[in-house]
Amino acid sequence: MYDVVIVGSGPAGLTAALYTARANLAPLLLEGFQAGGQLTLTTDVENYPGFPNGIMGPQLIQDMRAQSERFGTTFQQADLTSADFTTRPFHLTINDEETIQANTLIIATGASANLLGLPSESRLMGHGVSTCATCDGFFFRGKPLTVIGGGDSALEEAIFLTKFATHVTVVHRRDKLRASKILQDRAFKNEKISFRWNAVVGDILGDEVVAGVRLFDTVTNQPSDLDCAGAFIAIGHSPNTQVFRGQIHMDEKEYILTQNGTATNIPGVFAAGDVQDSHYRQAVTAAGSGCMAALDAERFLEAQK
Ligand code: NAP
Repeated sequence: MYDVVIVGSGPAGLTAALYTARANLAPLLLEGFQAGGQLTLTTDVENYPGFPNGIMGPQLIQDMRAQSERFGTTFQQADLTSADFTTRPFHLTINDEETIQANTLIIATGASANLLGLPSESRLMGHGVSTCATCDGFFFRGKPLTVIGGGDSALEEAIFLTKFATHVTVVHRRDKLRASKILQDRAFKNEKISFRWNAVVGDILGDEVVAGVRLFDTVTNQPSDLDCAGAFIAIGHSPNTQVFRGQIHMDEKEYILTQNGTATNIPGVFAAGDVQDSHYRQAVTAAGSGCMAALDAERFLEAQK
C-alpha cells in the first residue's frame, strides 16, 4: 500500500514526486509508455527559468527524474489501466495485471497530439506523417516539408525543420496565426518558410510514403496539391484521461476539473499539469501545479491521521 501514487512522468508528475519524496511519503511514480511526456519530444527549452542558455527538453526531464529519485521516489515503467475510486484506499490496476492500493493519487498524465482524422494520415503515420519534428526531422534532409497548424508548436516545428528541409510550408486554416509574437517574427524572417493561409488538408498523398498533401482553400473551396516528403501535424493536444472517464469530473474536452488548488471531486485524488490545464500548458506551470498537488496530497494525508 502506497501513501502516494503519481501517474505520469512529465514536469508535473516529476515535481509532485520530488515534493512528496522529500516529505517522506515514498511515492510510486508510474512512468507510462511515453516516459517523460511532451518535453522528450522537443529540443531547446528556452523559457524554463534558471537556464539562461536554454536546456534540451530530454535533459531537463532526465535531471528532474534524477532529482526526485535522489529523495526516494520509486519508478515503475507501467501504465495505469484502470482505477477504482469507490473506496479508499483506491485500487489501481497497472498493465492490466497487477493491482496496487493508494491512499492518494496524483494524476499527471498530460496531453497527446491531436490528429486530422484522415485515413491517409493513419496509413502514412511513420512513413512521412509525423507529430514530432524533433524525432523525425532528420529523415527529411534535402526534402520539402509541410507543417499543419498555426500555433506555437507548428511554428517551432517549422523553424526546427528548416535545419533539414529545402523548404517548409506552414498550412493554416485561417489567415492569422495563434502562435506567440516571438515565434511569428522568427518564422516570418526565415527564408525557408512560407505560409498557405486559409487552407485545410483534405488528403495526404502517396502510396508507401508521403508524396504531397491535397489542400482545400477555405474561402473558395478550390483544391490544390502541394508536393512534400513529410507532413508534420501540429494542431494541438488532448488530455490523456480515457482511463478516468465516467469516474471523475471533467470539462467538455475531457480535461480534469480541479478546485482549491489541485483537488478533484474525489477526496484524495489530485490532478496536475496539462491533464487539467487547457490554458497555460507550459512546462513551468505544469511543474508548479505538480508541486501544488504534492502539498495538497501531503495535507490530505495529514488530515486523515
Ligand atoms: P494550439 O495553441 O492549440 O494551436 C493549435 C493550432 O492548430 C491552431 O492554430 C489551430 O487553428 C490549429 N488547428 C486545430 N485543429 C485543427 C484542425 N483540425 N485542422 C487544422 N488546424 C487545426 O496548440 P499548440 O501549438 O500545440 O500549443 C499548445 C500550447 O503549448 C500553447 O499554450 C502554446 O503556447 C504552448 N507551446 C509553447 C511553446 C513555446 O513557448 N516555445 C512551444 C510549443 C507549444 P486555429 O488557430 O484556427 O484555432
